[in-house]
Amino acid sequence: MNSNVVRFVGLLICAGALLVGCNPKSERCRKCGMLVDEAPRWIAGLTNSSGHQERFCCERCMFAHWRSPEGAQARDAWVTEYYTQQRMPVGEVLFVMGSDVIGPMGKALVPIAGRAAAEQFMKDHHGSGILSADEITLEVLREVAGRMPAPPE
Ligand SMILES: [Zn+2]
Repeated sequence: MNSNVVRFVGLLICAGALLVGCNPKSERCRKCGMLVDEAPRWIAGLTNSSGHQERFCCERCMFAHWRSPEGAQARDAWVTEYYTQQRMPVGEVLFVMGSDVIGPMGKALVPIAGRAAAEQFMKDHHGSGILSADEITLEVLREVAGRMPAPPE
């Protein structure tokens, strides 16, 4: 009887350990290493060349990977839309750059669904431009990164 209880508790602990091991909350951004779920409103992802889904802390890390030689074969990229907080394919949103909205990596390329909403957002948050996913190149990413405040000494 007692040994059965011990065994049952042991099983529970093992199951718990397995759950923690598989818990997506411990997943880290492949690009920068931060916990992906630390900032759920910015999560982005794609399907890599071997068919695995990968998640990133934000749209900037996802694009940086996607535009690198390593990520060039990736597909089905998605982002978390700013207003609805829904996961959307990158082709269905526009990205506002230069605004005062800060994401996990600093200045964000804020994903917004619809041209009118993106234009309004740009006015409200002092953005400098609206880009489609195709227009987000490594050069754009570098420019966005360059506008980040200098890290503290
Ligand atoms: Zn990241």
